[in-house]
Amino acid sequence: MPFREILLWENLLLVTMGLLLINNVMRLRDSPGVVHRPQKQHYYPDSRMIDGQSGGETERDFPKSIEEMTAPTLPASDVTWIDSRPITDGKLSTWCSHCSVKKPPRSGHCRLCNQCVRIRDHHSIWLDTCIGVENHSAYFMVLLQTIFCGYYGSQLSMTTICTPEIYFDWFLVPNDCRFLYIDFRTAISFVTVCYMLVVTTLVVIATIWQLIFISQNVTQQEFSTAKRKGWVNQKIFVENNVHDQGIIMNLMEFFIVGRKSENTGKIQV
Ligand SMILES: [Zn+2]
Ligand SMILES: [Zn+2]
Repeated sequence: MPFREILLWENLLLVTMGLLLINNVMRLRDSPGVVHRPQKQHYYPDSRMIDGQSGGETERDFPKSIEEMTAPTLPASDVTWIDSRPITDGKLSTWCSHCSVKKPPRSGHCRLCNQCVRIRDHHSIWLDTCIGVENHSAYFMVLLQTIFCGYYGSQLSMTTICTPEIYFDWFLVPNDCRFLYIDFRTAISFVTVCYMLVVTTLVVIATIWQLIFISQNVTQQEFSTAKRKGWVNQKIFVENNVHDQGIIMNLMEFFIVGRKSENTGKIQV
């Protein structure tokens, strides 16, 4: 097969993968799985409201809703599992005062999005969205596609600016790269490829971390909590993880069945 034809097919493959990548990025930005406020909010009038002197702007000046007052809690010493929800005044806090919602197990409040997200992993500053129960698998696909486009695009660029060698009658590999700096455009392409390789390698590291988390059925937020408590063995293995069902089941749940925010293991609050 002539060089030009091979390059055409290779470019078409790269463009297709690029379009799929953009599609996945748009899909994952739809919703990470926000914890919505219940339809009805039952407020319990406190004395300040009755006196008509609620005036202040701070949260504590507003009356607590019945939901907030009845939100379950536990003493910190009873929380023997990794829980991403905060410990406040020595108690596990299951109420988010910013969103006025009861935080389900594994959820977390994002200060940047200002919302609580179910099975929250982290906030991606590159994609400007939270990663949670509904977009986590799409996020993982974005990582894989970025790696493919990064490495394959680099290989393709190098094939174009270097004299290539052909293997198996269809596979082009850059061979003679002596003339990279012969003109401005090839030099710019080469420098861009170098940066692309660095960025792609960082994405590979992020993907390996994601695989470590997913195979243990733990989120990045839970991992940080476990690290603070000293519940991480050999830097990667999380202890007291009530969601761990073994590597195979964890991977199957994430990639095939889909995580369910109702599956909360032994967590009762
Ligand atoms: Zn919240
Ligand atoms: Zn966020």
